[in-house]
Amino acid sequence: MIKVNQLNKYFGDLHVLKDIDMNVNRGEVVVVIGPSGSGKTTLLRSLNILETPESGEITIGERSLDFSRPQKKKQLVEFRKQTGMVFQNHNLFPHLTAVQNVMEGPVTVQKTPKTEAKKKAADILNKVGLGDKLDVYPHQLSGGQQQRVGIARALATGVEVILFDEPTSALDPELVADVLDVMKELAEEGMTMVVVTHEMKFAEEVADRVIFMDQGTIVEEGTPDEVFHSTKEPRTQQFLQRIG
Ligand code: ATP
Repeated sequence: MIKVNQLNKYFGDLHVLKDIDMNVNRGEVVVVIGPSGSGKTTLLRSLNILETPESGEITIGERSLDFSRPQKKKQLVEFRKQTGMVFQNHNLFPHLTAVQNVMEGPVTVQKTPKTEAKKKAADILNKVGLGDKLDVYPHQLSGGQQQRVGIARALATGVEVILFDEPTSALDPELVADVLDVMKELAEEGMTMVVVTHEMKFAEEVADRVIFMDQGTIVEEGTPDEVFHSTKEPRTQQFLQRIG
């Protein structure tokens, strides 16, 4: 579903992604862990072309981008439409209600008729446990509820891949579980997910595969059991001990 080949990204002189190779199969949940500054978010944002790598290739579904060549804007737009992104800070439109936030993508990007988009948005909000909050504004929702609207918004365009960038790290501890439960449900339904998170328990329970990054490289990847309990990589061991 996702294939990353020799991806390199620089911020000025800083080499943030170094020859990254990565595959994600359809329906797989891959959790990316690693120390602060190791390049996790940059990798995730590159998959959605919110960052433009300098070289390498990304294939998602049927579409491929080769970053060593100039890209046409239309190509980038089409490529980006294949994935939904859930950010740390919700990024909801403050002046739109929950249902309006969720239907915005389908209406503006996919030109879905408003009545149809609204019905679908209501169904999705219901699914993430917010069926009674359709007409309220983001500021009237808790952080966890806002984040669930964020997930609903990513789902609304019918994408096959959702990218989560530390979706729970800005939340009060008591709100984290509801968001993780929604993510777990999506995983069980077979959604392809790449998740950058510090929630090791979630990674352990839900991930099919864990990728450990350090200093712009993928140091190792394996099942949660392999990475969390039987790693032989000193850098992984050190990281796990530190977050302990
Ligand atoms: P964290 O766990 O703290 O979120 P991360 O592993 O997700 O870290 P990234 O956010 O990908 O790391 O950052 C990788 C490196 O790139 C860091 O050194 C960071 O300071 C740098 N960086 C990220 N975004 C930019 C930017 N827009 N401009 C310049 N440097 C950046």
